[in-house]
Amino acid sequence: MIKSCYIHIPFCKKICSYCDFCKIYYNELFINKYLDSLENEINTFYKGDTLDTIYIGGGTPSSLSINELNRLFDILNKLNRSNSIEFTIECNIEDISKDKLQLFKSNGINRLSIGVESFNEDNLKFMERPSIDINKINLAKKYFNNINIDLIYALPNETLDILNNDLDKVLSLDVKHISIYSLIVEPNTKIKDIKPINEDIDYEMYKLICNRLKDFNHYEISNFAKEGYESKHNLTYWNNEEYYGFGLGVSGYINNIRYTNTKSINHYIKNNYNRDEEVLLKEDKEKYELILGFRKLKGINLIVYKNKYNKDLLDNQKINKLLNENKLVIRDNHICICEDYIYLQNSLLIELI
Ligand code: SF4
Repeated sequence: MIKSCYIHIPFCKKICSYCDFCKIYYNELFINKYLDSLENEINTFYKGDTLDTIYIGGGTPSSLSINELNRLFDILNKLNRSNSIEFTIECNIEDISKDKLQLFKSNGINRLSIGVESFNEDNLKFMERPSIDINKINLAKKYFNNINIDLIYALPNETLDILNNDLDKVLSLDVKHISIYSLIVEPNTKIKDIKPINEDIDYEMYKLICNRLKDFNHYEISNFAKEGYESKHNLTYWNNEEYYGFGLGVSGYINNIRYTNTKSINHYIKNNYNRDEEVLLKEDKEKYELILGFRKLKGINLIVYKNKYNKDLLDNQKINKLLNENKLVIRDNHICICEDYIYLQNSLLIELI
């Protein structure tokens, strides 16, 4: 039974300087065709599973007009939802309005993920994003209790003071969830030639974030939640569980196959999804289990691992080496990365895999 579904809406009114996501400029002419094709994709591949999580991401799903959003929600009504569904939509600040919030609420959305990225004007200019109107976030809070704020840190000219200020602001908003990622300079972006921030400063910044957000449950490297507000949808990914992905350029994981849809809008709107498929062997699944599972601070459940793969993770020599070096630790039947090495998670995984 598949429990999660990701829906991609690739349209954006403006393109941010750092963005490497699958997105295109908002274009009314494309949107209806896109939604037709999305509906066809769901009709073709969705098998009627009762879903615990639906996540509408982008792009900028909130950039759609009220009519377009109504059409989107009509399509998504085909997806069966459990009573405890977590139903998230990503929303940019400039799109927040009473009308859209009401529409989200009346269509069952119960979690809002707001792309703030920074409150600092210089940072926002660098990212080519609009200024932040706190009133819009306060308006959203009147409609939704479960709100995530996305932030980005480690911009080229950012200082610890600037980051501290961003953290002051986000804490003052008293939201339930914060995702905060270090800027990655990707090759196909406007900022491709800038020099990333010095690694030592990046590390200092990460420590500052962990320290300032210590009242939250730091449950994944870059994610912090008030108790009980951890993202159920994202935990599907980190628990290496299967999920549907529908839309341009999405990834999904069904029946032992990880697939990625075409990134060409021209193909997509002709119902040509061109799925690129990776059929997983047992050892591939185990590899994903480690790569994704160690992102969680709680780590990998040793009993679940044994039941899934019919082998003991502690029999793995490389795991034992890392345990002996105190880079990994066992707590409550879980194996996880020691606090001092969380920041170095990537290099640890390279060593492991
Ligand atoms: S960062 Fe988000 S809003 Fe900006 S261009 Fe990329 S998908 Fe669109």
